[in-house]
Formats: sequence, structure tokens, C-alpha cells
Amino acid sequence: MRYETMTILPANIGSFSEPVRKLRESMNPCTLCPRQCKVYRGRGQVGFCGIGGRAVVSSVGPHFGEESVLVGGGGSGTIFFAGCNLGCVFCQNFDISHHRAGRKMTIEQLAEAMLGLQDYGCSNINFVTPTHVAAAITAALELARKGGLKLPTVYNTGGYDSVETLKLLEGFVDIYMPDMKYGDSKVSEELSAAPDYPQVNFAAVKEMHRQVGDLQVTDGLAARGLLVRHLVLPENLAGSFEVIDFLAEQISDKTTINVMDQYRPCYKASSHPKINQRPTFEEIESVRQYAIEKGLNVLD
Ligand code: SF4
Repeated sequence: MRYETMTILPANIGSFSEPVRKLRESMNPCTLCPRQCKVYRGRGQVGFCGIGGRAVVSSVGPHFGEESVLVGGGGSGTIFFAGCNLGCVFCQNFDISHHRAGRKMTIEQLAEAMLGLQDYGCSNINFVTPTHVAAAITAALELARKGGLKLPTVYNTGGYDSVETLKLLEGFVDIYMPDMKYGDSKVSEELSAAPDYPQVNFAAVKEMHRQVGDLQVTDGLAARGLLVRHLVLPENLAGSFEVIDFLAEQISDKTTINVMDQYRPCYKASSHPKINQRPTFEEIESVRQYAIEKGLNVLD
């Protein structure tokens, strides 16, 4: 891949735009996300997400397993970031999110990675688990765009994002793809160590939609807008009906949603009896049908 060559313009923080500089300042002390750990990441301190001043990347490459509107002919150009600001006990990527497998990358290397994905023919640049490295992503995007990056960008987030940080991302993100994991704070506390997840997440999705609107698809590919992911958990632990009501009534009844059926117990799920099982077919179908009845654009 092109990023191995590391030949792009050198990054000089003084030459970056104000939002990038503000995002960087927000890491020292760190208030980038709702955890508000207030550690000095530029000095190598780490907070809940476990990542210091430099982004750690676990993989870069075309991905064909994403939603079809993101894949196209060349795949979605994914950059998987290690670390996470959520503590989901059922995480399916725990080696990346919690064990933080990957390698540190400079801003220049990240920009090279994006250009490499474009050269490869990918349909977009898909930042997976980006919240805690938003400063590095925006700085690298500015460099990459100066270097010729034209692809739309996807912010593929667990949805635990602060509105203040999201406001600084305006113009950097074309497609917001947040999870909406829970509608109940007791459940989000137990399963993701985030009791304020529902209110934080609902406010974040509102801000995302304000910036980019409903999902726009051109020639089968997402160009801009909001695409919500909702993973159905057993026994309605994900608050599926509340999430759908919120989208239909407070965001837009044209919201595009992927009702995801692939939950399976992983990581520490076995220590939580209610999620140590898969949701039933009926549970999944009732959520899908409810979203359709509410008029949402439910992906196949
Ligand atoms: S980005 Fe990481 S260090 Fe910063 S507030 Fe969030 S979890 Fe804490």
C-alpha cells in the first residue's frame, strides 16, 4: 500500500485549520469524548480509551463486509483504530478495542493510508472507532485532501460522541454511521460502562443529522448523510423500539437504519446471563417490522 512509502507533506500543526488545532487542544487535558478523562495525552498519559497522543491503527484496507451502499466495486476503505471509549462486555473486536492491537501512526502515515486506499479504488474512507483519535483523523484528512484525496469519508462510531467534538468535525465527515446501542441507561451502564449513553448518543445523532442530513445514495453508493446502525440484543436490551421512535419522531422519518441481526455472545458476555444467547428470529423481525412501520429506510 502507498502508506508504506511515507512520502506525503510533513505535518506542521501551525499550518492546520482552527478546528484541527482545537481538537488537538482537546486532548490536553483530554475532553474529546464524554468520558472527560482530562489526562494529558500529548505527554503519553492515557484515559479510558487507552490511547495516548498518537493514533494506533490495527489495519488498513478495502472491506467488503460493510453495508452495500458503502462497498461498491472497490470496497470500503477502512482504517481500524485501536482503543475505544466504550467498554462493551460483548465486544466482537476486543483484541483491537480493548487489547489495542496495532501500530502507532503519524499524521503523515495516516494521510498516506487514505491516499493509498483511494489509489486502490476504494469507494470511501471509513474510519472505524474514530472518536478518541478525531484530532489525528482531521489533521491527516487535511493533508490527504491537499494531496488529492477526493473520496467521501465515513465516521463509523460507537455513538458515544460529544456534541462539542462533533461540531469541530463539520466539513470533515460526509457520512456519519453511528451505532445506537441502547435506550436505557441501566443497560448501557451494565453492558458498556456508560450510564449516560442514551442521552449522549441521542444528542450526538441529532448533531450528526444537522450536519449531513438524510442519507443520499448515488449510483448505489452513499455520498453523504446519516446511516444508523442498531444491533438487536436479546430480550430487547438494546431498547430497539425507543431508538426507532426517537429516529422517526426527532430526527427524520427518512432515516436510513441497518437493523443488525448478528449479535452473538463474545468477550465477557458469558458473565451476563441475559446476553449470553443470541436474539431470536422473532425478536429481530419485530424490530425490523417496527422500523418499517415507522417509515424508516431499513437496509436489507
Ligand atoms: S478520548 Fe479517551 S482519554 Fe479522552 S476523554 Fe475520551 S476516553 Fe478519555
